[in-house]
Amino acid sequence: MDFSLTDEQRSIRETARSFIEREVMPLEPEVLQRERRGEKGMKLDELRALQARARTFGFWGIGTPAEFGGANLPPITQSLIWTEVGRTFVPFMFGGETDNILLRANAEQQEEYTRPAIEGVRNSCFAVTEPNAGSDLTAIRMRARRDNGDWVLNGEKTFITRGVESDFSIVIAVTDASPGYRGGFTAFLVDREMGYETTPIETMGPSEPAAMAFDDVRVPERNVLGEIGQGFRLAMEWIGRGRYVIPSQAIGAGERLLGMAVEYANQRETFGKPIGEHQMIQTMIADCEVDLESARYLVLLAAWTVEQGQDPRHQSSMAKLAGATMANRVVDRVMQIHGGMGYTRELPIERWYREARLWRIFEGTDEIQRRTIARNLLSGKRRVGGHLA
Ligand SMILES: Cc1cc2nc3c(=O)[nH]c(=O)nc-3n(C[C@H](O)[C@H](O)[C@H](O)COP(=O)(O)OP(=O)(O)OC[C@H]3O[C@@H](n4cnc5c(N)ncnc54)[C@H](O)[C@@H]3O)c2cc1C
Repeated sequence: MDFSLTDEQRSIRETARSFIEREVMPLEPEVLQRERRGEKGMKLDELRALQARARTFGFWGIGTPAEFGGANLPPITQSLIWTEVGRTFVPFMFGGETDNILLRANAEQQEEYTRPAIEGVRNSCFAVTEPNAGSDLTAIRMRARRDNGDWVLNGEKTFITRGVESDFSIVIAVTDASPGYRGGFTAFLVDREMGYETTPIETMGPSEPAAMAFDDVRVPERNVLGEIGQGFRLAMEWIGRGRYVIPSQAIGAGERLLGMAVEYANQRETFGKPIGEHQMIQTMIADCEVDLESARYLVLLAAWTVEQGQDPRHQSSMAKLAGATMANRVVDRVMQIHGGMGYTRELPIERWYREARLWRIFEGTDEIQRRTIARNLLSGKRRVGGHLA
């Protein structure tokens, strides 16, 4: 069994790390100041400029197929890159990527939506959650009815990331109530000009999703994404990707935070010695290390499963659950190790504390991941013994 990285994986990871350290981390103080003034940490044009700079280092479309100009790196390499991105709280991501299901668009839609979204010329968002349907997406009610060769959408979406900035939205709506999610949901590409309204929702973290209202929004037939009735499958495909990207980032955040704790524990003294010499501080440091290493291998296992072309859902649920819960435990301990300073706004720990809380909620809550994992075992779909069973 070989747990090491290949030379190529290591070299790509080092290049990503040095880009993040040199070009992105120096922006951290400014991001904190802006957010504390109630502004966005990074403006869209600043993000695009940084992404363009990263492109000159080869970081463009890390998960995007070559026919769309992407690098299409293997999932393990993508996970390693996302971990490097996670080491900073600057709201940065490498460019050339878009909602994965836009790659399923037809040739005409690709020109109008997919390619401009990949190039960062048009901003997309993905809207499935509704006020009465989050974990249970089979319960969505937004209705799309046919009218004179068009579709007319009515209903509400909520908590939609990038909804406020979006130029267009990928919307899942009910086209046939009787089969419901089993063939009655359809995905639509809806331009803002077609008439949806967005309202920002304030949260405890840096994320500002939107509530979206659709009141007789008329969408032409050519804007159906994929096949009519395929919407639930596409929604699941979209969500599936986040399940190894989010924990990869969580690992990066956890590593950076643990690094801060180790440094602080070696230098802060109480009772005549560095706090790192107190066993209770050592326990917290050791628990962070074990948590991180366990989550790291679950995330790599999920990415590896995708790489093998196998169904990754079981492993991805474990990775998402482990990564999200790990980051919350780590940030809590790291705050504790920093004492009063950890709670202040002079350090970024409190910011990570607020941001990490979201990772246990969106793209499948902890409970939904546990439900998937347990049901796979109880139904016999998965055998006890994990990956080696
Ligand atoms: C900042 C943010 C950004 C988001 N971005 C997007 C986006 O871009 N697009 C989008 O479509 N959605 C987005 N979401 C929505 C997000 O995915 C949902 O909030 C999440 O899936 C939970 O749904 P809910 O809020 O309706 O909670 P509910 O589904 O109402 O759940 C409430 C509680 O019950 C638990 N629960 C539910 N069912 C079960 C069960 N069977 N067993 C045990 N416990 C259960 C849940 O785990 C949770 O603890 C975002 C949310 C947030 C907060």
